[in-house]
Amino acid sequence: MDTILVVNAGSSSVKFEIFSVEGEGRLSRQIRGQMDGIGSRPRLRASGAKCEPVADRAYLLEAVPDVPAAMDLAGEWLRDELRIRPIAVGHRVVHGGPDYDQPMLIDRSVVARLERFSNLAPLHQPHNLSPIRSILASDPTLPQVACFDTAFHRTHGALADHYAIPHQLHAEGVRRYGFHGLSYEYIASTLPSVAPDIAKRRVIVAHLGSGASMCAIDQGRSVESTMGFTALDGLPMGTRPGQLDPGVVLYLIAEKGMSAAEAQSLLYHECGLKGLSGISNDMRELQDSTDPRAAFAVDYFAYRIALNTGMLVAAMQGVDGFVFTAGIGENSAKIRAAIASRLAWLGVSLDEAANAENRSLISQPDGRVPVYVVPTDEELMIARHTLSLLVRAT
Ligand code: ADP
Repeated sequence: MDTILVVNAGSSSVKFEIFSVEGEGRLSRQIRGQMDGIGSRPRLRASGAKCEPVADRAYLLEAVPDVPAAMDLAGEWLRDELRIRPIAVGHRVVHGGPDYDQPMLIDRSVVARLERFSNLAPLHQPHNLSPIRSILASDPTLPQVACFDTAFHRTHGALADHYAIPHQLHAEGVRRYGFHGLSYEYIASTLPSVAPDIAKRRVIVAHLGSGASMCAIDQGRSVESTMGFTALDGLPMGTRPGQLDPGVVLYLIAEKGMSAAEAQSLLYHECGLKGLSGISNDMRELQDSTDPRAAFAVDYFAYRIALNTGMLVAAMQGVDGFVFTAGIGENSAKIRAAIASRLAWLGVSLDEAANAENRSLISQPDGRVPVYVVPTDEELMIARHTLSLLVRAT
């Protein structure tokens, strides 16, 4: 059986999935795994096609000190115990810079190019590239494909791509890239089957997970996003603030005496729902809490999503459909209802029962804007890209 390995490497975890390639290029998920606690308490967990557990084992810290070691161990486990030898590997890479508007078959020159974008995404890019390099070294003939979170947004026009800063900085790469592109691309690819009435029209997709952003998609193409140069911008997230006056960062540095690293740590790890509530970055915990600060954080989240919807409607000069996706968007009827009630002016009106049951179409039949819940699948998108590049290359 031919299989494709999908890898999503972070600073302390490597997530991986195995897809089998079936008739007519259909892909079927066989294994979902994760090596986490890298550098602290390494642990390999994996489940099979029916979500049944297939591995759960702890390792000594010395056995898995870093991402390449985690990749090697996961690779050995797949090869030696499950007898899986993938025909190609697809990687999630956060930044494709200004030029990469589609996935790329990887060779050493592509890696060198992607390394140059590490300063644009210092918290993610180096970790994304680390398993690519280790596979290139250990198995140089195994085809590898880089799939970028920025690529789907490279269709933005110049107005959406710019900040009002000196042109030289834009030329250097200080642009409004937008992220979560693999999620939006998956949603755009699935709309013709799950929501054919809006697939070729103007759609706002709200990807609401630990990271959160929204994308304006017109006829299947991204035209605007709430995220910009980094994944800090736009909506409030679990631990990131979203849109923030840059003067706040200057204040942190000039008045609070923070170093750049300290300001970065505050902005990536201590803000958003966690900072606002003082309780948790997890939406479920906030919804279950009776603390008024939790209720405020949830209200703020819905408010900022409604504000940003106004911006995206303006970008497309209207809207014909709205889609919720990712952890919060797919599962929380309460948040969806809170957002919808703030969008009543736009003609958004939910069917309470459909919303409570997480159905696909959750708006009232006479609502002006159809609202859908569509589960995202970034890993399947990566596997599809990997297979199609492989087919084109042979
Ligand atoms: P990521 O992939 O970015 O880590 P997810 O898309 O898995 O994030 O989303 C994680 C978020 O989804 C968390 O805030 C979690 O609390 C929230 N979430 C998951 N299920 C529910 C639910 N039933 N109700 C409310 N929030 C939920």
